[in-house]
Amino acid sequence: MRIVGVDIGGTGIKSALIECGAPDDAASYRIIERASVHTDGKQGRDKVIDNICVAIDKFIAQSDASIIGVGSAGDIDDTCGVITFATDALPGFTGLELRELLAERFGKRVNLVNDAVAALVGEAYVGNSLKGRPMMLTLGTGLGCAMIEDISKPLGSGSIENIRLGHIELHDGGRQCKCGLKGCAEQYVSATGLKLNAGMDRVEEILSSDKSRAAVREFLADFKSVLEVACDRYSPTNIIIGGGVVEMSQYWWDDLVSICDKNIACKLVKAKLGNRAALLGSVFAALNGRYGIQNGIY
Ligand SMILES: [Zn+2]
Repeated sequence: MRIVGVDIGGTGIKSALIECGAPDDAASYRIIERASVHTDGKQGRDKVIDNICVAIDKFIAQSDASIIGVGSAGDIDDTCGVITFATDALPGFTGLELRELLAERFGKRVNLVNDAVAALVGEAYVGNSLKGRPMMLTLGTGLGCAMIEDISKPLGSGSIENIRLGHIELHDGGRQCKCGLKGCAEQYVSATGLKLNAGMDRVEEILSSDKSRAAVREFLADFKSVLEVACDRYSPTNIIIGGGVVEMSQYWWDDLVSICDKNIACKLVKAKLGNRAALLGSVFAALNGRYGIQNGIY
């Protein structure tokens, strides 16, 4: 079976043609071809919607599936396929019935989940085949977090929680966050946080250079604090760590594991799929999940 997967982010929209054997055979999933277009958020809602359609159009003719898998930035009610909150990166998307809109445009069913949820599904089922209660933290511009309550239960609405861990208060009266609060975790434990710590712009340079060693130590100490909160509040069995910073994990992973060693009650796992996770996860969720009835079918 060949199916189109889409990953809608604030700067880019990725799409892919993904092939699988049986829908529930996670090991059989592979990306045949992928593409990416700019989101163009500054040009308004209709332009972003057009760009999403362009991304899907690239592969839709080669798909033999009756459904399209979509993961998107923003808070999403995945039972009815509505974006309940989006930042200015996706202008006018708050309240948008994106699932319905795309289903009408392409004449197929559409499954819409949050992008952090899609990445977690990708990593937990396709990338790592984990058991228990896996959680994923994604370190990019911000800090995303999602958790599967119990991976042995069916995938669907309510089986994965999108957790706003990036906006817990880490430092009282600290850095101003885009959400309006101060001292949020994502202002420290993210690529943005590393850059602010070091007063430098290139993440790889910060991680590898001697002169920014204190900034990296600070970042790792904050990272550990966030992991402790995550373990205390949610009791995950594994925490998968993903995002661009993980692609440079050779500079910091062992240090994080060693400072966390006796303090963290779960296993830390590196994400394996990189920026393919949300594409593969959106398709796996579409084919295996039960996310509310559309046209009389799940
Ligand atoms: Zn915040």
